[in-house]
Amino acid sequence: MAATPRGTTPVPPDARPRLTVLSGPSGVGKSTVVAHMRKVHPEVWLSVSATTRKPRPGERHGVQYFFVDDEEFDKLVANGELLEWAEFAGNRYGTPRTAVLERLEAGEPVLLEIDLQGARLVRESMPEAQLVFLAPPSWDELVRRLTGRGTEAPEVIERRLAAAKVELAAEAEFDTTLVNTSVEDVARELLALMRVV
Ligand code: ADP
Ligand code: 5GP
Repeated sequence: MAATPRGTTPVPPDARPRLTVLSGPSGVGKSTVVAHMRKVHPEVWLSVSATTRKPRPGERHGVQYFFVDDEEFDKLVANGELLEWAEFAGNRYGTPRTAVLERLEAGEPVLLEIDLQGARLVRESMPEAQLVFLAPPSWDELVRRLTGRGTEAPEVIERRLAAAKVELAAEAEFDTTLVNTSVEDVARELLALMRVV
């Protein structure tokens, strides 16, 4: 099945939404979609967030995240260096402000992959942003993906599944939903929504 846009907000054909936010429950495949975009569509600029989470195997500082300790994260917050930040399942995550604003000023398409709280904060501060929700084909498939990734301890998986229930209930707040059945299809739909293709 293809990625199916649901409830797409009409956008004038020549309009290029300047900032696109991709959100969705943990395990739905957001990082996989972003990794695919990084590889196949380097023309889309992806914001790299700061996080206090420890790197997973294969994750590199400055690529998937800037991995910082609590003290460094406190400083980023205190100095107003984050466009938004949130606590998620026991760790903090935030979007570096300057890099995003510079790209937007240069007229480049920008993609943020952030959680529901972050998406809400972006909507408040930048109402022109386009919010895209990545949904799983089913709840069982979400559980399978989150468990199958094998990167979290059982209690962390439980915390993430509890957060996922809250995130799934917020789908209607988003402009568009893409169902992640195929990563390639989702990437294609996302590029179309960003007017990159
Ligand atoms: P998120 O970043 O949303 O937490 P991940 O990108 O880490 O999720 O994906 C969670 C797991 O689901 C990974 O093991 C990934 O390989 C798998 N996955 C992602 N997209 C798909 C898909 N379309 N079909 C099957 N498995 C997928
Ligand atoms: P993970 O630990 O699985 O990489 O990410 C956990 C959650 O944090 C995901 O929902 C991801 O989208 C979100 N996230 C990543 N970066 C940011 C950020 O900069 N801000 C916010 N609010 N959430 C983020």
